[in-house]
Amino acid sequence: MQTNDAAQTITLGAKLGQLLKPGDVILLNGDLGAGKTTFTKGIAKALGIRRPVKSPTFTLIREYKEGTYPLYHMDMYRLENGGSDELGLEEYFEGQGIVIVEWSQFIQDELPLDYLVIAIHKDPDNDDIRQIEFQPKGQHYQQIVQQLEADYHDPS
Ligand code: ADP
Ligand code: MG
Repeated sequence: MQTNDAAQTITLGAKLGQLLKPGDVILLNGDLGAGKTTFTKGIAKALGIRRPVKSPTFTLIREYKEGTYPLYHMDMYRLENGGSDELGLEEYFEGQGIVIVEWSQFIQDELPLDYLVIAIHKDPDNDDIRQIEFQPKGQHYQQIVQQLEADYHDPS
């Protein structure tokens, strides 16, 4: 799928957010500034979270508990050299919240079996265009992506 500005990425995130259930795990891949946190804002919006979603780059994990389901937003960028042991990640992944992970490659060994990877690619020629690719692992996430593709049409 393609988005042409940040607002469209938020809208797409919100469409996905409507389909998510407690315990779901989303891994957001993409370079710095690709739009991972922007996409997360859309998911939060769909859950009815009004508090502004800010990047958890320095806090590693931000928790939003005022929505339909708890949202746990993680940014593992600072774990490039390890150190995830003390975060208690297993409890988040096995809990009843929705978990969104930026830079999940740094916690590869702690990920659950199934999850939905969303890869966001910047356009080399246009600062506002993103290609957003969905890579579900496991049947549950395959169904979510099918439903999203049926619901969503690229805005022009
Ligand atoms: P990341 O979390 O991947 O580092 P952010 O979401 O924090 O990225 O930042 C993305 C930046 O790119 C924001 O400043 C946003 O306004 C801008 N942007 C421009 N076009 C888009 C788009 N189509 N989708 C998402 N963000 C976009
Ligand atoms: Mg970010």
